[in-house]
Amino acid sequence: MFENLQDRLSGVFDKLTGRGALSEKDVDEALREVRRALLEADVALPVARAFVEKVRTRAVGHEVLKSVTPGQQVVKIVHDALVDTLGAEAAEISLNAPAPVAIMMVGLQGSGKTTSTAKIAKRLMKREKRKVLMASLDTRRPAAQEQLKVLGEQNDIPTLAIVEGQEPVAIARRAMEAGRLGGYDVVLLDSAGRLHVDEALMAEITQVRDLAHPHETLLVADSLTGQDAVNVAEQFQSRIGLTGIVLTRTDGDGRGGAALSMRHVTGVPIKLLGTGEKIDELEDFDPRRIAGRILGQGDVVSLVEKAAETIDAEKAERMARKMKKGQFDLDDLAEQLQQMGKMGGMAGVLGMLPGMGKIKKQLGQAQLDDSIFKRQAAIISSMTKQERRNPKVLNASRKKRVAAGSGTSVPEINRLLKMHRQMADMMKQMGKKGMKGLFGGMGG
Ligand code: GDP
Repeated sequence: MFENLQDRLSGVFDKLTGRGALSEKDVDEALREVRRALLEADVALPVARAFVEKVRTRAVGHEVLKSVTPGQQVVKIVHDALVDTLGAEAAEISLNAPAPVAIMMVGLQGSGKTTSTAKIAKRLMKREKRKVLMASLDTRRPAAQEQLKVLGEQNDIPTLAIVEGQEPVAIARRAMEAGRLGGYDVVLLDSAGRLHVDEALMAEITQVRDLAHPHETLLVADSLTGQDAVNVAEQFQSRIGLTGIVLTRTDGDGRGGAALSMRHVTGVPIKLLGTGEKIDELEDFDPRRIAGRILGQGDVVSLVEKAAETIDAEKAERMARKMKKGQFDLDDLAEQLQQMGKMGGMAGVLGMLPGMGKIKKQLGQAQLDDSIFKRQAAIISSMTKQERRNPKVLNASRKKRVAAGSGTSVPEINRLLKMHRQMADMMKQMGKKGMKGLFGGMGG
């Protein structure tokens, strides 16, 4: 599905990654090409625009890593932006509700709704060991109910018996009832489709929704229809409310635009991909794997990730050296606080540090949460460079200024300065004793 896009992007990146330095013009040029490639892959215009802006902002504010080229870093930034656009976390079908859990399948005729219903039923039976019942509510398309029944028979999935002439809402009621009585975990409702979104369809599906209270409402959308699939999704989302999308025919030569636009436009995750006509041709939608497939630059991405880790380690070492010499200033404390935030808040980190019990008591357990960490970071960032290097210059009027600037109070600043002094003293002592460094202990 993503071949064309991948070809185009790898052309862009081949030009970038070999270079030693990138000018703003290089980046602009590359981003223009990325945008063009996205649009050609049928990505919705606002999505392409937002994507390029995201990459630009991140590239500008980015720390330059020594061991990789700037171009390689851009690849990683594009990769991360792709993952974000696709949905960041893989989202699974949720069955977290009292049984029988209703899953309503919606979508246009021919999108692959009935096939996907059977695929999902089979998967829930096999993988999740759930007892599943399928019911077709499609009274419009001739033989639609029959089609689901046949799929059920072929794959040993129970289907609700067909009652001629029954209306969709009545079938849904009967399905939920059969689900309860039969001890089913999940009832899959295959709603009717139409060639286009129309009022009658929306009204019918709304009625079914209000009766069955589906825990999941999954839109089945044909990836080959690109931008149209996205428009349909938008309409279903605003009229019915969706919890996820199943993108079908991703085995075809669609241009991938639907996959990239869906999340951004609807705010709803793609949960599954249909990858063929057969019952087991269904895949979890994993944003990281898809981003990897689109970029085809997995090596570069992991290289940059490693380099970023190394930078963190180098910083820690530099800090340890400074501490040993007793040069622990407020800039270092700010960096330390940031590090602590990454490591699960101050309480956890302080607990790990030797000799911190006293400080912990002074601060009070109640205050050891992330809000105090944020306030302290704000205090430090309201200081001048000189004040951060040499906190002794902070007299009463300077403290007042910093308090106003950071939205805190002078007593808070005093507490922070006291903490800093105690930490610096403690570190000096530990440095003298020749401890191998605080961070060796913390990391392990
Ligand atoms: P419905 O009208 O939405 O219920 O669509 P169907 O489930 O009847 O599917 C229409 C056609 O698309 C059938 O021939 C399916 O076999 C085919 N189909 C469904 N999903 C996929 C898919 O992921 N890949 C491919 N290649 N074909 C699919």
